[in-house]
Amino acid sequence: MAFEGLAERLQGTIQRIKGKGKVSEADVKEMMREVRFALIEADVNLKVVKEFVKKVSERAVGVDVMKSLTPGQQVIKIVKDELTELMGGEQSPIQFAKKPPTVIMMVGLQGAGKTTTTGKLANILRKKYNRNPLLVAADIYRPAAIQQLQTIGKQLSLPVFSLGTDVSPVEIVRQALEKSKEDHNDVIIIDTAGRLHIDEDLMQELKDIRALKEPDEVFLVVDSMTGQDAVNVAQSFNESIGITGVVLTKLDGDTRGGAALSIRSVAQKPIKFVGMGEKMDALEPFHPERMASRILGMGDMLSLIEKAQANVDEEKAKELEEKFRTQSFTFDDFIEQLNQVKKMGPLEDIIKMLPGAGKIKGLENAKVDEKQMGRVEAIIYAMTPQEKTTPDIINSSRKKRIAKGSGTSIQDVNRLLKQFEDMKKMMKQMSNMQQQKGKKKMKM
Ligand code: GDP
Repeated sequence: MAFEGLAERLQGTIQRIKGKGKVSEADVKEMMREVRFALIEADVNLKVVKEFVKKVSERAVGVDVMKSLTPGQQVIKIVKDELTELMGGEQSPIQFAKKPPTVIMMVGLQGAGKTTTTGKLANILRKKYNRNPLLVAADIYRPAAIQQLQTIGKQLSLPVFSLGTDVSPVEIVRQALEKSKEDHNDVIIIDTAGRLHIDEDLMQELKDIRALKEPDEVFLVVDSMTGQDAVNVAQSFNESIGITGVVLTKLDGDTRGGAALSIRSVAQKPIKFVGMGEKMDALEPFHPERMASRILGMGDMLSLIEKAQANVDEEKAKELEEKFRTQSFTFDDFIEQLNQVKKMGPLEDIIKMLPGAGKIKGLENAKVDEKQMGRVEAIIYAMTPQEKTTPDIINSSRKKRIAKGSGTSIQDVNRLLKQFEDMKKMMKQMSNMQQQKGKKKMKM
């Protein structure tokens, strides 16, 4: 998980100040010492740490008494506001061209995740923005980069423009622009060449591509696990060719988070997206406020809701709700629901977005028992259609058959039947409550 150490330290500090009815200057000093330490340990740029602590201290000393918050809570709010500000404040959206095609240049050092991110970004553009992107293979130096992009294109069923490795990147991009006109692609994403280090030739090549047609976005892809190196790379690229935003990859493996916290303030460019895994759907828009919330253990309900919305089929959700209400929920629906939850990704990641999840002891090691989920599925698949819709008919001989057919025990079958009954009872109570609420409203 990203920001693990920082989150733990800051949350500990917050716990101590939270309930305070009065916050003295000494309290603030003490807290800021810990915040400072936590940020340094998270590999945040020293200058950034200094400024951050100064700003929070100034605001925190002598907080006005607001009615709704205790002074302790106000200090926490200040920390959250400043963390949000540090990471760029508002979420920074993609800039599209007024007149298509929108041209997006992907730049960065080798191994940062540029080619992978090119694919992920195209995926988002198509899914979320309904665009028709063309991927352009202009990295002619890294062996296999072109092939890698073509594989990604195939996987996503998206077109990839390539002229092999013998044509110059500038010429490739020039022809790609022509091609996009013919094929009506409204976005062009150029996967440019990376190098192991920043060098003049590379910068010149990028400038030449830029000169062909001014891109709407120049995204620098950097590996967040390289910490302050990533920050330096961002600064250099920005000074040399000018970038419009940063994509921070591998945040899923970055337990410190120093790059995420420093880049905006050092390189003066917003983080637009973060990479959270190797798969093609593991790219997320970067929301500074939500990230600050997550770091401080306040949860990230908005991202959670968006995740659910993106993965849950609305029609199916409505059908399920209707079934809950009319209590005609069957084991087939149960399986359907399990599948919907699975689509949202590992359950332990979801749990971490809940407010206060960090405080629940043992949760950091919580692994959802995949085996148990597999058993539940096997049991349901071993039922006859009639048993699935009317589980009341499942007597002991049927239980035996189901257990045998699913490779589980009778106790497993009993447990699932009981869970299902409990769930139905709960649904009944909930729908009763809702009916009563409805009645009350009508009286008013
Ligand atoms: P390029 O040289 O910059 O084009 O880098 P690649 O796109 O080939 O990526 C290098 C490696 O990083 C590949 O193994 C990717 O799967 C991996 N990678 C890229 N983005 C992420 C990410 O967000 N999380 C993780 N865990 N791996 C990533």
